[in-house]
Amino acid sequence: MIYMGRKCTVCENYLTVDDRVISKTMLGSDTERFYCIGCLADFLLCDTAHLERKLEWLRNRGCDCFEEERAYLIEAAMYNI
Ligand SMILES: [Zn+2]
Repeated sequence: MIYMGRKCTVCENYLTVDDRVISKTMLGSDTERFYCIGCLADFLLCDTAHLERKLEWLRNRGCDCFEEERAYLIEAAMYNI
């Protein structure tokens, strides 16, 4: 299995849980492109503060997407070095 979306599409930095959550939130859950928050803000022509507020909102809602992405990244790191 190939794990997609471990690195930013633009700058190729490794993605954090937040990066993956916000990419899916803004681009759709079936997106194949993931961005770090800085590159995503550039891509969407908004500022990172806007995206961080959105993440805060999701966190306060108790969205389980953070746990899902954390599990995904741990699994991907184990199998896809
Ligand atoms: Zn990036």
